[in-house]
Amino acid sequence: MRKVLIANRGEIALRVIRACRELGLASVAVYSDADARAPHVREADEAVRLGAPPSSESYLRGDLIIAAAIASGADAIHPGYGFLSEREWFARAVRDAGLIWVGPPAEAIAAMGSKTAARTLAVSRDVPVVPGTTEALRDADEALKIAAEFGYPVLLKAAAGGGGKGMRVVREPSALAAALAAAQREAMSAFGDDAVYVEKYIEGPRHVEIQVLADTHGHYVSLGERECSVQRRHQKMIEEAPSPAVNADLRKAMGAAAVRVAKAAGYQNAGTCEFLLAPDEQFYFLEMNTRIQVEHPVTELVTGIDLVQWQLRIAAGERLPFTTSIDPRGWAMECRITSEDASNDFLPSTGRIEYLRLPGGPGVRWDSGIGVGSEVTLYYDPMLAKLIVWAPTRADAITRMHRALDELTIQGIETSREFHLRVMEDDEFCRGAIDIQWLERRLGSLTAAPAPREQVEAAAIAAALLAERDRQRRSPRSTVRAGEPLGGADGAGTRPELSPWARLARQHGLRDA
Ligand code: ADP
Repeated sequence: MRKVLIANRGEIALRVIRACRELGLASVAVYSDADARAPHVREADEAVRLGAPPSSESYLRGDLIIAAAIASGADAIHPGYGFLSEREWFARAVRDAGLIWVGPPAEAIAAMGSKTAARTLAVSRDVPVVPGTTEALRDADEALKIAAEFGYPVLLKAAAGGGGKGMRVVREPSALAAALAAAQREAMSAFGDDAVYVEKYIEGPRHVEIQVLADTHGHYVSLGERECSVQRRHQKMIEEAPSPAVNADLRKAMGAAAVRVAKAAGYQNAGTCEFLLAPDEQFYFLEMNTRIQVEHPVTELVTGIDLVQWQLRIAAGERLPFTTSIDPRGWAMECRITSEDASNDFLPSTGRIEYLRLPGGPGVRWDSGIGVGSEVTLYYDPMLAKLIVWAPTRADAITRMHRALDELTIQGIETSREFHLRVMEDDEFCRGAIDIQWLERRLGSLTAAPAPREQVEAAAIAAALLAERDRQRRSPRSTVRAGEPLGGADGAGTRPELSPWARLARQHGLRDA
């Protein structure tokens, strides 16, 4: 493997380019017209235009992407996440074109592509799944019969589902028929497949997932869990590793279950088994994601293993150097910075990034696909960047995340920064008392309208005046005595001497006299 084409955009494209560079591999970016000046295009060694901004004319055009790989002399394709990453046909087409696919075999993608097939596979290896059916429902009568067996509430799910589409919670028999019809309709329009099955709806579980790595020589390892319970409309917003609810024994049991599923699917490369963890510590396999996950950095920070580099190494045929599971060290947390206005029902925000101040310092990692001048459009996912921190303990990680969010400034569009700050201040979150419904319950208080503008301005002015007085008190050149109002007792007293910097600024008209 010498040259890798990255069939993606944004932060994950940059993440893969960085891994390539560290491994001495050349990189080829692809882009749509909306991304012609995007950071991933600038950073790659080469870039190939795909087409117009809509994904269907650019990042989803497998034919153009394979042609770009061949034309640029790339010998491998990394799909990132989303777009074509979990399309069996694309993995196959890449292989048929004589290129290396940086991902699992097409057969493993297919085995995990249907939720019902994945459930059947898990059950065959004694991995617990949520009680429910593994066959598509024929009609409402059958659904009623099965739901009565498990007891309400139940969850209707699209077999081909993803992104929470085609899911319906049903709390009583009278609502079942209409919910089934709605779920089937939604599944048909989203996935072209109206197969819907039924599961028991688990109340108050956590979403805990296990990272797995498998090489092409039959070695499988679990790299521990990620806690992803902070979700809005089934979309993850904050992730961490480890989980506050998982101890060493549970980690071992869940890791072993994930490895059994991966083995049953003939899995290779990086993959993730998602579980629901009930309050009684019972865990249930949900599905396997056959690609790198958005939240992979938290696992990297607590294990010290570069997952994207290992995706490339495994695809090139390297053996895993560790064969036992790796225990987490310290605590890592990730906030997804999206172009959404949390105070306005997460309304998508578009525009140009006019100013960007990035957080830094100990334990801070910023994975982004934006820069000053980037245009944020509605064509793609609203996730702009991921702010990730590491610290020795969970409490320290929260403090550090708060500090880093405080440092972050993005001007030109609305972002989720403020929302994340409020989560870091929330006492339930700080206690780790979260489940997958927590955010929806808490959203009202977390996104309450900010204080009126005048109040914020008055507070800012007061803080600036206090800081100025403090500075003058400490300054030996100051002619203002402690306790004395600024400018002297009569308001017209002698002014403190100016620093050379301030004098310079004034000379150049940068500061008011
Ligand atoms: P998708 O592939 O559409 O994301 P998942 O099966 O991963 O669907 O489920 C999405 C989310 O829905 C999970 O992360 C969890 O929050 C919730 N969920 C799924 N199944 C259940 C269940 N049986 N009971 C309660 N919540 C569930």
